[in-house]
Amino acid sequence: MGDSNDPATRPNRRSVLRAAGGALAGVAVATAPAPVAAADPSAHRRMARLAAENACGELDNGLCDYLDTVEEYADDPDDDPYHCPGWYPDRVCEVLDAVVRLREHGGTVDEKAATEAAAAKRRVDDGDYVEAAIETGRALHFVQDAGTLVNAGREVEQAVDYDVRTEYERWLDETWNENFADAADTGASEDVGSEDDVRNLTRTLADRTREAIEDRWHDVEDPSEYDDETVAAQRDRIRDAAAVSNGTVRWIWENA
Ligand SMILES: [Zn+2]
Repeated sequence: MGDSNDPATRPNRRSVLRAAGGALAGVAVATAPAPVAAADPSAHRRMARLAAENACGELDNGLCDYLDTVEEYADDPDDDPYHCPGWYPDRVCEVLDAVVRLREHGGTVDEKAATEAAAAKRRVDDGDYVEAAIETGRALHFVQDAGTLVNAGREVEQAVDYDVRTEYERWLDETWNENFADAADTGASEDVGSEDDVRNLTRTLADRTREAIEDRWHDVEDPSEYDDETVAAQRDRIRDAAAVSNGTVRWIWENA
């Protein structure tokens, strides 16, 4: 998903509103940047936090001190650097960047989820809980990408028109409570007992998401408003992604 919720760049809407209601309202309104249309926090962060909290409800071990870290790093893979050769024109680099990103966060998402989850589990075995929490957040990012319509399929179209993805993810974050929160919070969990399980479950999820975006692309590519059927398709994928996320965290953390 996108990086529109980067705390470094996101104006704090609540503090702006609080200030606007106070004695310095005129000053605050005049000087504060216009609040951008971004939800707080991102869907990635919300889902990662939920999965970690669910795991802690059962495991209650040392990793449960690191819920904030898991949440913080759930957005991280979208900021992984892409190195374009210096002599390429900017526009070419932009498109290449988008293709690589969409491919990693869509096409090879199962591999990324599995390797990050396995790395996290090794950190648990080593007793390095900070790094374990970081890798857990990153692993969950890829599981969740597999359940997001714009992250599994139609890569070429989105690389050419990247706003389609940005707008969709913004909408997902902004309407999270209204449309998706309950679907993410059923507590259901897939059985995960190995790196292969993470890979296979994420692959199955991505395949189903790919079918969903084929069905809904005509709506997704026109990001003014989304149909009820698109909401329903996205809800289903989020429900499944949450179950894979829950199982994945439990597997990573079980021996902490
Ligand atoms: Zn992503």
